[in-house]
Amino acid sequence: SANIDYQKVLNQIQQEFADIHPSGKVASYIPELAKVPSDKFGMHLYDLEGNNYNFGDSNERFSIQSISKVFTLALAMKVVGDDLWNRVGVEPSGDPFNSLSQLENDSGIPRNPYINAGALVVADVLVSYFTNPKAALLAFLHEITGDSSIDFDTTVAASEQAEGYRNYAMVNYLKSFGNIENDVEKVLDFYFHQCSIAMSCRELAQAFIIFANHGTVLDSDREFLTGRQVKRINALMQTCGFYDEAGEFSFEVGLPGKSGVGGGIVAVNPYHYAVAVWSPPLNPKGNSALGMAALERLTTLTGFSIF
Ligand code: GLU
Repeated sequence: SANIDYQKVLNQIQQEFADIHPSGKVASYIPELAKVPSDKFGMHLYDLEGNNYNFGDSNERFSIQSISKVFTLALAMKVVGDDLWNRVGVEPSGDPFNSLSQLENDSGIPRNPYINAGALVVADVLVSYFTNPKAALLAFLHEITGDSSIDFDTTVAASEQAEGYRNYAMVNYLKSFGNIENDVEKVLDFYFHQCSIAMSCRELAQAFIIFANHGTVLDSDREFLTGRQVKRINALMQTCGFYDEAGEFSFEVGLPGKSGVGGGIVAVNPYHYAVAVWSPPLNPKGNSALGMAALERLTTLTGFSIF
């Protein structure tokens, strides 16, 4: 990838989409997300040589929402290892992110850690392991980014809780199968906070570089995850990172990635770069419409995906 001019490619993407008003609707299940201007658009690519390339609103923080599921999975794999896979599966669900229906036939074992049911089980694992799981999650993010100002948005977290009927149902349903160890309120409090974390495209690309770099922070020998763990986290992003549109994202973009309903998407080109894009309007499957299109252009213009 050394001979690709990423800034030129990003400039071209910005230009190509300058006059496009993305179809789709900004998430509206909580007022804090509904309020975000629909024309925000930014992208940041961070490569393994430590170079930064970006355009637009790439330094503005937004609600990372389900992108947080990658961070919590990474932390849970680190602390409990392979025992995690007794409680959550590794198959794409083909169902929306908040689906309850598969749990009935699957005896309360969520299909994968990137749908809500799976993320709630991962949250439960962290609530069991850490005395202060919220502080542990922030400490992990601060360590991998070197930026200790990354924080929860407590207004968003409170709204998530006020509107979280389906997540309440899900965690109670999981608990009825014996797949939640803690008090449901504690698990949900942690989950709503993880969803509320605010980060910019730059910060997300810098945090995700460990998934492009064998689990090691750039320019250091601090290994947060093993190569085997990173392989698994990326494989799950490839097969399960986009709700019931994981196949389409793989087909169009050809990189492992994870989206959130705040309009963010982060993708990884292993051994080369991590890239984050933000545009709030979501397509019918809940993924950033313009974000997906921009990443499709990135791998097409560079002629470079994992395939
Ligand atoms: N807070 C959202 C929920 O759990 C996150 C959804 C998402 O980004 O997929 O409903």
